[in-house]
Amino acid sequence: MSSRLRIGLLGGTFDPPHLGHLWLAELARVALNLEKVLFLPVGQPPHKEDCQVSAVSHRLQMVSLAIQENPHFFLDTTDCHRPPPHTTVSLLPLLRQKYPAAQFWLLVGSDSLRDLPTWASPRQLLQMCRLGVLARPGVAIDWDWLETPVPGCKTAVDMLDGPTLSLSATEIRAWAKRGHHLAYLLPTAVSSYIDQHRLYQPGQP
Ligand code: ATP
Repeated sequence: MSSRLRIGLLGGTFDPPHLGHLWLAELARVALNLEKVLFLPVGQPPHKEDCQVSAVSHRLQMVSLAIQENPHFFLDTTDCHRPPPHTTVSLLPLLRQKYPAAQFWLLVGSDSLRDLPTWASPRQLLQMCRLGVLARPGVAIDWDWLETPVPGCKTAVDMLDGPTLSLSATEIRAWAKRGHHLAYLLPTAVSSYIDQHRLYQPGQP
C-alpha cells in the first residue's frame, strides 16, 4: 500500500451536521484506511444560492461539536473563508497546498455522485481526487449515464459497503420546525447547541 498520507474530504453545508455525515466519514475512514477526515463547511453552497442557509458561525460551531469525540476528524475552514464561487474543483488546489503529498478521497453520498455532471469541471476534479461514495436510500446510480459526460467516472469511485441512513439536513430542519426535538438524529452536543441558539424554530423561514 502507498505510504502517502490518505485524507478524506467531506464538504457540505452542514445545516446541521447529522449522523448521516458522521457515518459516511467513519465508514470511509475505516474502509479506505484514511488517516484523517477533514470536514469542510462551505460558505455559500453553489447549488443552494436561492436558499437561506444558517450563518457560517453556527455551522462551524455545530461541526466542531459533532466531530469532537473522534480523533481522526478535523474541521477545515478553507471553504468558508474564501471568495465565491465555492466549487470543489477550485477547493482541491488549496487543500493540495496544505497537504502536498496527500492522496485525497472526496466523500459523498450517492445523491452527490448522481449530480456530478452538474458540478464545475467534473473531469478536472477527478484528476485531483478519488471519490468515496455511500449510497443514500432511494438514490440509484446510472453508471452509463454518468460515464457519458464524465468518462472514467466509474473507475474513480470507491463504493462504500455498509448500512445506509435515510437522513438529511433538510428533513431534520423540517422536523425541528414542526416543533419536534432532534435527539438521536444528531450528536447530543449539536442538538443542545440548536436548542440553545433557537435554530430551526417553528415559524422561522
Ligand atoms: P441538505 O438536505 O440540506 O441538502 P444533506 O443532509 O444532504 O443536506 P449536505 O451538507 O448537503 O447534507 O451533504 C454533504 C455531503 O454528505 C453530501 O455529499 C451528501 O450526499 C452527504 N450525505 C448527507 N447525508 C447523508 C446520508 N444520510 N448518507 C450518505 N451521505 C450523506
